Amino acid sequence: MDLARLVEIQVEFSRRKFPLFWEVRDGRDLALRLEYLTNALAGEVGEAANLVKKVVRSSVYGHGDVKLEDLRKEIEEELTDVFIYLLTAAGLLGMDLEKAYFEKLAKNERRF
Ligand SMILES: [Mg+2]
Repeated sequence: MDLARLVEIQVEFSRRKFPLFWEVRDGRDLALRLEYLTNALAGEVGEAANLVKKVVRSSVYGHGDVKLEDLRKEIEEELTDVFIYLLTAAGLLGMDLEKAYFEKLAKNERRF
């Protein structure tokens, strides 16, 4: 399954569950929807980072007894939430995420 299909599936889900969100009348509405999604995306990144922070404080700095394996499932869930909001934002913008990824990969290949 390619990324375009995943974006399609996620947008179909989101349109079905949150129809008002997808009523985008103008550029202002689009900016507000994009703001919502990017804030949500940042929130999910923060949730993942907080779990990783707990693992590092414990297993690297010795404050606590939390191991990566204890939180692995939760970290994977938060990263999946990140992916879901990324797919939704890509769908909102109508962007070709797969093409953008390969363009960026080529750019990073030259850069690093
Ligand atoms: Mg979450």
